[in-house]
Amino acid sequence: MKKERISIPRPQTAFILVQCPNCGNEVTVFSTSTAKVKCNVCDAIIAENTGGKAKINGTVLRRLD
Ligand SMILES: [Zn+2]
Repeated sequence: MKKERISIPRPQTAFILVQCPNCGNEVTVFSTSTAKVKCNVCDAIIAENTGGKAKINGTVLRRLD
């Protein structure tokens, strides 16, 4: 029996858990988010888009994938 290889394309995008530099709240940011992501506690800007990639302003805790 012939084995088939199925390649699953891995997206280069990921959800990232970022800690707000202001209040320590944990915010989930999409790595290619085109919108500004604000902390839902203190309204600090956690991520903003810079040429297709999100610039993270807080501490990246881990990737959620
Ligand atoms: Zn905050």
